[in-house]
Amino acid sequence: MKLADLDLTVGRRFSRADLEATFDRGMTGRGIEICYDEDDQRYLRLFSKETGPYADDVTSGQFTYIGEGRTGDQTLTAGNRILAETTDRPLPIYFFYQSPSDDRWEYQGLVDVVSYRRVYDDSEDRYIFEFTLQRRDETRERVDTEACAQDIQQPTRVETTRSRVIRNTAVSRELKELYGHQCQLCGDVRQRTPETPYVEAHHLQPLGRPHEGPDTAANLLVLCPNHHADFDYGMVSVDTGSLTVAHAYDRSLSGTKLSVAPDHPLADGFLTYHNREIADF
Ligand SMILES: [Zn+2]
Repeated sequence: MKLADLDLTVGRRFSRADLEATFDRGMTGRGIEICYDEDDQRYLRLFSKETGPYADDVTSGQFTYIGEGRTGDQTLTAGNRILAETTDRPLPIYFFYQSPSDDRWEYQGLVDVVSYRRVYDDSEDRYIFEFTLQRRDETRERVDTEACAQDIQQPTRVETTRSRVIRNTAVSRELKELYGHQCQLCGDVRQRTPETPYVEAHHLQPLGRPHEGPDTAANLLVLCPNHHADFDYGMVSVDTGSLTVAHAYDRSLSGTKLSVAPDHPLADGFLTYHNREIADF
């Protein structure tokens, strides 16, 4: 089988035997399969069930995929590592979904990994890798028609999730530049390589359910990975008037001020949301 010859229709349902015949390759039973076609072109097959141990949500254009490893802390190895690496070096990723009522696998289309992160899953008491996936055909189109919309309110869900990723990349990139890749909390600049700075963008009111925060500079902070985690876990709050920081366990930061650049239109309302809904100490 050559990838170039593969002609898959979104929505087609495959039995295990169909799938093996189409790809000329058996199923391993893993969620993330690393495959090669006869020209040694690498590709991935992803399998997801909405119920069951992985609880993936494939109902919207952008969705979360939990990495592989059903017990213990998930690690960034094997399929998880390959999937993470596609954020820098994209591969064709064929996504299949099995609903609880059908033992066949429904082809959902090609997807891209938008981002990933290691998060603590309270219900299972372990760390997991959460991958944000976006259907590829939907990311490529619609860019021009929606890229200008700088709305804070949410139009219909599917429409925003498509354009959100596109806008997010531009907005967060600009903001990172504005801060010279410095963390707004501690001022550090981390590096991705010896030449390339690395900093992350944090949404005060998180995107997606149940928070449905907007993807605008008003709702974003630029943070180093440690302080991104502290914000995610609610270990930091920021007074809206004075921008004074309270930190749950790092006294050296409590009483300092969040750095906010004059050109960053950070909105008090999102700090308030964070303090009320996310901060937890
Ligand atoms: Zn920091």
